[in-house]
Amino acid sequence: MLTNAPRGTKDILPSQAGAWQWLEEKIREVCALYSYEEIRTPTFEHTELFKRGIGEGTDVVEKEMYTFTDRGERSITLRPENTASVVRAYLQNKLFANAGLVKLFYVGSMFRYDRPQAGRLREFHQFGVEALGEKNPAVDAEIILLAWEFLRSLGLTELKLKINTVGCPACRPIYRQKLTEYFTENADELCGDCRRRLEKNPMRILDCKVDALKDFMDDAPKIETCLCDDCREHFNALKKFLTAAGVEYEINPRLVRGLDYYTKTAFEIQYAPLGAQSAVAGGGRYDGLIKEIGGDDTPAVGFAAGLERILLALELQGLVPAQDKKISAFVVAGGAAAEAYAFKLLTDLRREKISAAMDFGRKSMKSQMKAAAKSGAKFALIVGEDEVASSSVTVKNLETSAQEKIPREKIFEKING
Ligand SMILES: [Zn+2]
Ligand SMILES: [Zn+2]
Repeated sequence: MLTNAPRGTKDILPSQAGAWQWLEEKIREVCALYSYEEIRTPTFEHTELFKRGIGEGTDVVEKEMYTFTDRGERSITLRPENTASVVRAYLQNKLFANAGLVKLFYVGSMFRYDRPQAGRLREFHQFGVEALGEKNPAVDAEIILLAWEFLRSLGLTELKLKINTVGCPACRPIYRQKLTEYFTENADELCGDCRRRLEKNPMRILDCKVDALKDFMDDAPKIETCLCDDCREHFNALKKFLTAAGVEYEINPRLVRGLDYYTKTAFEIQYAPLGAQSAVAGGGRYDGLIKEIGGDDTPAVGFAAGLERILLALELQGLVPAQDKKISAFVVAGGAAAEAYAFKLLTDLRREKISAAMDFGRKSMKSQMKAAAKSGAKFALIVGEDEVASSSVTVKNLETSAQEKIPREKIFEKING
């Protein structure tokens, strides 16, 4: 028990950390290109924020949140996603005051009590962007481009962009009504979950995994027929921008997203080889959320991408770059008398920004030389009683095996040269 991490959590070991750092660098690169700035919000928030922001009745709020009462009797929840937190920070810090459009990104851990499986953990990592304060569909296109070009820049191919519109409070009720009627007629065929969804949120039935392949799904009413002029124009403009940018997309009328605050644009980027968990990024417009959380009516659009899944996809394609952990120098100390001299040399190397290590096990010269070779260092710096007495260092180039004794003060020159 003590030596097992909780179910659904995972250590990122030194052998894996390099891939994460590389991925995070790529994220920062693309966000700088698109001029999105980083925001870091707390790992936990008041439970109420997520209830309002994600919506009571959603699976996330009802079944998946890590909620607890703290010692001050407050209900606290580990963030299951970051959009609500970013909106809260946007309002609390009045980020809307300076510019019309505020463009933010985040990278961090999220928490959901879910059944763990490949690429899906209880503590998982997301990269996401939020663009707040603009209703122009060009912003929807911009964040889709950002997600798309980011994934492509990692080397991933076989990516598919699926888009849809989920309407707005003006036109969605009409669609919802049509769906309710249609699914009520076919209620016998619905799975148990969907029969419950029929009352609360019939749109969710469209993305039910259990019912996906049943015949009646194909004939379900499409939102196209119900859109108001505003939503129709928005969707057409988005398609126009994507086409102008040369990005291929597919319209998927069943793409509805799990969360209630989404309006108009919904999108998903899939990487097919991942199978059932093929979505690597998804998002859309959420014009209703900021008001829901207590701000002025403010349009916004964003997406989130799962880093565990992206890394799985990269591993499948053999795209995770090899790590270079090599150091420049390895200090070898001959006997206790040379230990302090060796330690001073090690310290001075690091102060000169030369990466260096030594074996602290007081082992034989021979086994220290083996450790030096294993470390990948270019130079072994050997110091014994002779070197201490003459204030020198014996330098062995481990690539060529050439060896020479040089004065202590020439060592940086030798290594940097
Ligand atoms: Zn509408
Ligand atoms: Zn179902």
